Amino acid sequence: MELSKRITGVKPSATLTLNAQAQQLREQGHEIISLAVGEPDFPTPAHVCAAAKEAIDQGFTRYTPVPGIMELREAVAGYFVHNYGARCEGKNTIVSNGGKQCLYNLLQCLLNPGDEVLLPAPYWVSYPALIELAGGVAVPVQTEPEQGFLLNVEQLMTRVTDRTKVLVLNTPSNPTGGHYTQEQLDALARAAVDKGLFVIADEIYDQLVYPPAKPASAATLWNEFPEQIAVVNGLAKSFAMTGWRVGYCLAHEDLVNAMSRLQSQSSSNICSVAQKAALAALTGSWEEVSRMRAAFQKRRDFAFDKVQGWAGVVCAKPQGAFYLFPKVSDLYNATVPDSGALCSFLLEKAGVALVPGAAFGDDRCIRISYALDEKTLAAALDKIGLALQEVVQK
Ligand code: PLP
Repeated sequence: MELSKRITGVKPSATLTLNAQAQQLREQGHEIISLAVGEPDFPTPAHVCAAAKEAIDQGFTRYTPVPGIMELREAVAGYFVHNYGARCEGKNTIVSNGGKQCLYNLLQCLLNPGDEVLLPAPYWVSYPALIELAGGVAVPVQTEPEQGFLLNVEQLMTRVTDRTKVLVLNTPSNPTGGHYTQEQLDALARAAVDKGLFVIADEIYDQLVYPPAKPASAATLWNEFPEQIAVVNGLAKSFAMTGWRVGYCLAHEDLVNAMSRLQSQSSSNICSVAQKAALAALTGSWEEVSRMRAAFQKRRDFAFDKVQGWAGVVCAKPQGAFYLFPKVSDLYNATVPDSGALCSFLLEKAGVALVPGAAFGDDRCIRISYALDEKTLAAALDKIGLALQEVVQK
């Protein structure tokens, strides 16, 4: 069948492909643990589910305004006001199908063909495809494990050209868990804005930052540059609501209206029931969020200690999200020459599914998710450790 050039160029998500491979091996009777997951293993808090049930019972099942019901948009604005001192209102927010659709909408509304987008690497798998779909050109800017995979202003500036239009910052980062302090984030965003760039800050993991590190947001600087900064967030990771598809964006009213226009011709409003659930999440108790954060921090500490013990492996200590991104390239040899081969080897030998760093723009590394219970996590890490010893001996 003849498909468009646009879709032919789009690669399937590497993480989803890997999970499918692991599933296939399971079906063949192999015992496989997946550390390739990108979602919390906790259930959505009960009060959020109750709000959704109530919405159904009350017949809140019809179309809503495209950018979301105003009560929810105001609650989203309240999040940015309360947590980061943004001076925004409901009209500065739009609710979309996950942070992913917010990013899609933003790039579609900001980019013209050939515009360059600076993308600190390693980057989240979907950014290059989202940029390409909007006609843009992704320009990766390499960061190093020794610097916690963080970018500095000088590194950023060397990559700005007269075609550069947008900088995408993701903090805490998927896949590295690297996280900027408020000062570092402000310095990067301000430098980009001074150069006339638009800054998209993807802060989907901002509730998963582990003390003593503190959450940081571009929402504060947005007050000064509302036409050059947009912040993306959502409930998938903070409230364990990946399947509900609730993402939101803080942006200038004109950009919000443009995104709303685009969304009106594609998906329209997000599910009405999910909107009521989101409202309950944003305006109700955050106790569960704190509890999940504490559990993730414990797992981070545990997993990081284990990985530190693997010979030939260098790992930056993640400050947030739920991933480790160890550099394993010193172990590569003729039979295991890259991150893809190493992940295939670990899948077969250790029965553990991981995502190759190449999918995130860094072939030196592999991504380990610690979003699963401690016992399984411990078993998986021990299996990887043992299998890696075999690679070292080869
Ligand atoms: N941004 C990053 C960095 C992510 O890791 C993810 C999900 O994995 C998203 C955005 C999209 O999240 P959502 O499920 O809200 O679309």
